Amino acid sequence: MKRTLVVLALAVTLTGCGVSTQQEIEMGGQYAAQINQQLPIINDPEANRYINLLGDSIARLTSRTDIPDWKFFIVDSREVNAFAVPGGYIYVNRGLIERTQRMDQLAGVLGHEIGHVIRRHSVHQMEKAQGANVGVTLACVLTNICNSQAASAAINVGGGALFAKFSRDDENEADEEGVKNVVRAGIDPHGIPEMFRILLDERASSPSSVSTWFATHPLEEDRIKQTEAQIATINPAILSGLTKDSQSFQAFKQRVRSLPPPPAPTRAGN
Ligand SMILES: [Zn+2]
Repeated sequence: MKRTLVVLALAVTLTGCGVSTQQEIEMGGQYAAQINQQLPIINDPEANRYINLLGDSIARLTSRTDIPDWKFFIVDSREVNAFAVPGGYIYVNRGLIERTQRMDQLAGVLGHEIGHVIRRHSVHQMEKAQGANVGVTLACVLTNICNSQAASAAINVGGGALFAKFSRDDENEADEEGVKNVVRAGIDPHGIPEMFRILLDERASSPSSVSTWFATHPLEEDRIKQTEAQIATINPAILSGLTKDSQSFQAFKQRVRSLPPPPAPTRAGN
């Protein structure tokens, strides 16, 4: 089945003084509604309950108490990816969950994505991009449909806003926040560099399954080293008391694995 390109034409009206929290939450809600229409989202109540419990346990302890309601979604795709939408909407692909071994690795990914929201990386990009083209680019980055010429043309019209594609500095900041976020929630931060290694190994053995992740998350060995160096500054007595895994996580992973296979890939073009 070929998914047609749905151009997200959101009326993003940005004032000179930037995006307020209120606007961030409203825009995020609109984006999330459109994403949920475009992407296959898993609606298994048990799986959704777990990822929201885990995500919320991390997000509600952060500085963004101005976001009243964080929401976590599982995208029914074998591709490895995760992304954050302003206003506290976090998406994790099924393919990423199936590649985790322990709870702290998934928590690390959530902590990192939550970090992007805390630092308002997407909001800053939207402020720079100013408007209508942002939505188009978002759809492309998230779904890979920009391989089609029509979509590429649509992107070029507005001059290459790259919403959801973060700079190396943004990634470093989100990593740093990620470590703090999971530690605050009582979870071992080693899951973050471990997950990076899993993904780098995957890139070596099966590059196509992680290409979206690497397109949107610049990841090199030095990011792993930086994260490990940050973890090394944490008091070992604190680290040793943090949670690495749980039965409920393993049950969740089994549950996700046992769901019916995802819909056929949605790429157009190629
Ligand atoms: Zn990131």
